[in-house]
Amino acid sequence: MQHVIPVAQLKSQFGVQIEAMAGAIEACVHCGFCLPVCPTYQVLGQEMDSPRGRILLMKNVLEGGLAVQEALPYIDRCLGCLACVTACPSGVAYGDLLMPFRAYARQKASYSLMERVQRKLVNQTLPSPERFRTAALFGRLAKPFSAMLPQELAGMLALLPDRLPAARPLPEVFPAEGVRRARVALLVGCVQQVLAPEINWATLRVLARNGVEVLIPADQACCGALLMHTGELDRARQLARQNLRAFSGQVDAILTNAAGCGSGLKDYPLLLMGLEDQNLADELARQAQDVSQFLAELGMLGEPALPQPTRVAYHDACHLAHAQGITAAPRALLNRVANLTLLEIADSTTCCGSAGTYNLEQPEIAAELGRRKAANILQTGAEAVAAGNIGCIVQIRTHLQALGKLLPVFHTFELLDVAYSRSAAGSKSRLIRRPNLVSAHFLGFIQQHIGRIHQFGGVPGVQWKSGDALADGRAGNRCPVLII
Ligand code: SF4
Ligand code: SF4
Repeated sequence: MQHVIPVAQLKSQFGVQIEAMAGAIEACVHCGFCLPVCPTYQVLGQEMDSPRGRILLMKNVLEGGLAVQEALPYIDRCLGCLACVTACPSGVAYGDLLMPFRAYARQKASYSLMERVQRKLVNQTLPSPERFRTAALFGRLAKPFSAMLPQELAGMLALLPDRLPAARPLPEVFPAEGVRRARVALLVGCVQQVLAPEINWATLRVLARNGVEVLIPADQACCGALLMHTGELDRARQLARQNLRAFSGQVDAILTNAAGCGSGLKDYPLLLMGLEDQNLADELARQAQDVSQFLAELGMLGEPALPQPTRVAYHDACHLAHAQGITAAPRALLNRVANLTLLEIADSTTCCGSAGTYNLEQPEIAAELGRRKAANILQTGAEAVAAGNIGCIVQIRTHLQALGKLLPVFHTFELLDVAYSRSAAGSKSRLIRRPNLVSAHFLGFIQQHIGRIHQFGGVPGVQWKSGDALADGRAGNRCPVLII
């Protein structure tokens, strides 16, 4: 696309990022191949809510022909899912354009007081597990008064879970079992640590089982992906620099088990482009790998097996499939598990609507995408779902529940962990097929004192009684439970 963006002039505002932005605009040939894959175009059907439309809007703003306030609603509706990047035959680096543009636009645009309060609260709490945990506690106390609060705050409270699992601090080193095949460092994620600490533990156990020693640097920070998404680049750079120091040791790879965090690390070169530490950012991004890709390349050991034949639908998180190009590795790992039949979801690589804080910013579109994803999953006839991103897991679970379907939704490594635990020599794993006969208190006691509990497989057509419990503590659900 031809443009007359005053690149030299805009360098004072954007730094050298403006060159990457102009490069992305130049590369677009207006072909429209990206339109059908864009979730917002699918839902809203307007050119300006498509990648091509947004590129044109950003070009016009940068050229000075359009006020940023005019373009912002369309840019704000972008999920940042990068499905357009995968589809684009011309290699348009849409992400290189979007991130700096959002930061610029959000400085220039005016937002209501409540929108600014909401953004401040989100950006202050989510990147810190301690603050998020505390906020969730206060939020729970405030929930009964939601009706009296402004819509923005009530929306935040509605998304808070009723219960949080107990915090489970991680060690600084988790040793490999048997002969060590690799040594890695793990970024443990902020939201994930609070909402689903078991994912990190499952990841550690599966890696250990495969001869991988894992270091968990205590001084690591949030990856900063959320702040990049919301245009808070200065704060994101602070976190990135903290991680550059924390992950500077000698390891074979720096692993992430949340797709959003992995693509956040891989965005460090763009974030620090032309600034101090750019070389370190390049190196960290080169070393960063999703845990599924790492294990698939290393090769899985042993004979993992689920306790019973189970049909599992795999959902592609956008920040794995589009931002990192990883679709084969998680499927290869799951296909190695005996008793597991992998199912494909229609439009598997279309965003589920989670996308960082999108549920707060664009609740209607997020809900529509969540509904579509849940319906496509149910079409497969799956008994469980696997995904590689905590945001997707929560979103899919929410929308399956809204449709009255209570399929368990796992992280890929939780399923692998169950399969390895089950196949371990001398395993004391037991499958309780009617956990509704067991009280929530009893399951809680087992979880705390005896072993881990995994919910496992839905039981169609069976009603739950109040007080029934699952591995994740939700009442009103029912399925077989594996105690390890
Ligand atoms: S597919 Fe690529 S080149 Fe074609 S309109 Fe979309 S962004 Fe532009
Ligand atoms: S990032 Fe996703 S939502 Fe945004 S324009 Fe591209 S495909 Fe559409």
